[in-house]
Amino acid sequence: MNDAIAKQNLLDLDREGLERFFADTLGEKRFRAHQIMKWIHHRHVTDFNEMTDLGKALRAKLEAHAEVRVPQIQFEKPSTDGTHKWLLGMDGKNAIEAVFIPDKGRGTLCVSSQVGCALNCQFCSTATQGFNRNLSTAEIIGQVWVAAKHLGNVPHRQRKLTNVVMMGMGEPLMNFDNVVRAMSIMRDDLGYGLANKRVTLSTAGMVPMIDKLAELSDVSLAVSLHAPNDELRSELVPLNKKYPIAELMAACERYARRKPRESITFEYTLMKGVNDQPVHARQLARLMRQFDNAMQMKDAAKVNLIPFNPFPGTRFERSAEADIRAFQKSLLDAHVLTMVRRTRGDDIDAACGQLKGQVVDRTRRQAEFRKQLAAQTGQGDGAVDAAA
Ligand code: SAH
Repeated sequence: MNDAIAKQNLLDLDREGLERFFADTLGEKRFRAHQIMKWIHHRHVTDFNEMTDLGKALRAKLEAHAEVRVPQIQFEKPSTDGTHKWLLGMDGKNAIEAVFIPDKGRGTLCVSSQVGCALNCQFCSTATQGFNRNLSTAEIIGQVWVAAKHLGNVPHRQRKLTNVVMMGMGEPLMNFDNVVRAMSIMRDDLGYGLANKRVTLSTAGMVPMIDKLAELSDVSLAVSLHAPNDELRSELVPLNKKYPIAELMAACERYARRKPRESITFEYTLMKGVNDQPVHARQLARLMRQFDNAMQMKDAAKVNLIPFNPFPGTRFERSAEADIRAFQKSLLDAHVLTMVRRTRGDDIDAACGQLKGQVVDRTRRQAEFRKQLAAQTGQGDGAVDAAA
């Protein structure tokens, strides 16, 4: 092995891992790990020579055994509404996207967990990209590092980055260990110091992993529901065939029950004529009220309606504004706490379901999608690239 491969990327380690690395590999005191974390995550310093409260000998040792390798910014783009998108290079071939969304009094970073996605949700642009691999802990927390540095974020003082949502590319619960470790750095005072409820993991419904998460973590949970009955949901979110709605809702109950976690958010992307009809609103309200009743808590279930964001080649359309409002009203009238997530960053293709990065696809999905699109538009393969 050459040096470059043998060096430990310190971004891959949470507090516990770093303490172990300092004790076992470097033969140093554990508290040195805490100093390093502050340099990396609070001050955004990656060069050991700039870490002035570490002795020269220790800096030399670190130089020999470790590195702080952050994702490479390939491209970044501010949106007119304050949203900021980064395309981050991961390994010379693949790239993923992270998006910062400022809103009154808070700043939310939307973080990716995989290069592409192995699920095949019909209305999501990431799905058309196919799948390459899981992101490492360093690549996940590296997105937070890049955004925090850009924003001049200082935890506990000048906090511009107040929330993280694992709602970028990928299914976070299919990259469980790396996601949990990265979320632990997000919540650590020596990391980004975010409260549990300000870190949200969103899942398409990996039931067994929701239970595993319940044992390890107290982060907020969001579930991508998108349909109130199994027939429709299996069509939109194929994972539903494996874990149908009743099982999913039961797992949500177990998650919320383990201790009084905050409520669970159910995401529901509204698509014209597909899932936005009055009957769907009524079925959804019933499902949400059942959850509240089971939890014996008002607003245990919250609904987040997301007007569909189009992307080239999709067969779906955004619901009409009047239908979105009627859908929300129907839920509110049934005493279900319901918000509409107003689209942000769509002028830079940074809105929900529009992230696609650069995925060296290892499934056949990208090629199939391109073929379909070419057939639809009567154009050659270049259509997808040109449109993107
Ligand atoms: N795989 C996880 C994390 C991705 S979150 C999950 O499914 O929850 C991305 C969110 O945006 C999900 O709720 C997803 O369903 C939603 N989404 C996907 N495509 C969309 C689109 N075209 N328009 C609006 N929302 C979309």
